[in-house]
Amino acid sequence: MNFDAVKQILDSANQPPYRIKSLVGAIQANRLTDYDQLSSWPKTLRQALKDQLPFTSYSNTQLISGTSQTKKALLELTQGGSIETVLIPIKDNQYSVCVSSQVGCAMGCSFCATGTLGLSRSLTAEEITDQIFFWKLNFPEAVIKTIVFMGMGEPFANELAVNQAIDWLQTYYGIGARHITVSTCGLIKGIENFAHNHPQVNLAISLHAATQELRQQLMPIANKVDLEALSQAIHQYLKHTNRRITFEYLLIDSVNDSSQNLKDLADWLAQFPLQLVHVNLIRYNQTTDKYQQPSNNRVYFARDYLMNQGIVATIRKSYGDDIAGACGQLSRKQYQKEEK
Ligand code: SAH
Ligand code: SF4
Repeated sequence: MNFDAVKQILDSANQPPYRIKSLVGAIQANRLTDYDQLSSWPKTLRQALKDQLPFTSYSNTQLISGTSQTKKALLELTQGGSIETVLIPIKDNQYSVCVSSQVGCAMGCSFCATGTLGLSRSLTAEEITDQIFFWKLNFPEAVIKTIVFMGMGEPFANELAVNQAIDWLQTYYGIGARHITVSTCGLIKGIENFAHNHPQVNLAISLHAATQELRQQLMPIANKVDLEALSQAIHQYLKHTNRRITFEYLLIDSVNDSSQNLKDLADWLAQFPLQLVHVNLIRYNQTTDKYQQPSNNRVYFARDYLMNQGIVATIRKSYGDDIAGACGQLSRKQYQKEEK
């Protein structure tokens, strides 16, 4: 739903903008699937909405439930392309939603299923927030607490729409800035702009390697943005926001999980105030035969090593491996089947 367009229609009908929030609430509570069902709204208004705005930006959907509580959905977009979104349990009836920001991704990281697809196009703000709308419609009992931009795509390669979506999430879905996290592979300009536009929204940086050579092997973006440039942008970000950054570090067996690799990581992070550093260790999810998952022992070793260096490190619980539902794990095969 394009909230700016809804607001315009409300304005021209002399209706207060707070109606938008009640629109979202009513749709969720009553599982409405059509403007016509908004029975308490003036008929002319419903008709105007119906005539001018599609209810959702996706048409066909496919829900994939695994054995865990994590749910993944593939949304076929009306404007073309398919994307994934994941509903991840936090506790009780509270959930986090992982959203995509693009159809595919141009960044080509060697370990990432989305990266092998290439970029088809960037999403609109509406297509981003409709992923939350989808979960609200289909699981009204789920209380959505946090949003993570960790699905398909590089959010800072689609800054305008991502900015707009973040604003809408706060204004119309009532999600606080501190409950939203944007993850980037390290686009410098994006990090700088983000510090100014959304200083309260959480930033996660996909680091994955702390030497230039290894990072270049894993992530093509490292050829354009070297670790030195990245660290400068991070210093600026920290200076401006004084907010903690999450560094995502994917652990791949015998590629970046040795004691030396971890020492390199701790040494590199030592340039920042450590109270503003959080390392989130991610167990590699197998997407190609090229890389293997590390053993649990290696993952715990990495966490303990970093903690001993005074760096806060956590292990990302891997939700939904059984449905290839971990963020960014949409398989090419499934994507093509969806695209057909
Ligand atoms: N493009 C952004 C956000 C989407 S990717 C970024 O790269 O940060 C979200 C996270 O999923 C990133 O940290 C990414 O490195 C991780 N990821 C990608 N492929 C993965 C895999 N095979 N196993 C586990 N995590 C993966
Ligand atoms: Fe794109 Fe992120 Fe995947 Fe890299 S990890 S290819 S930046 S989605």
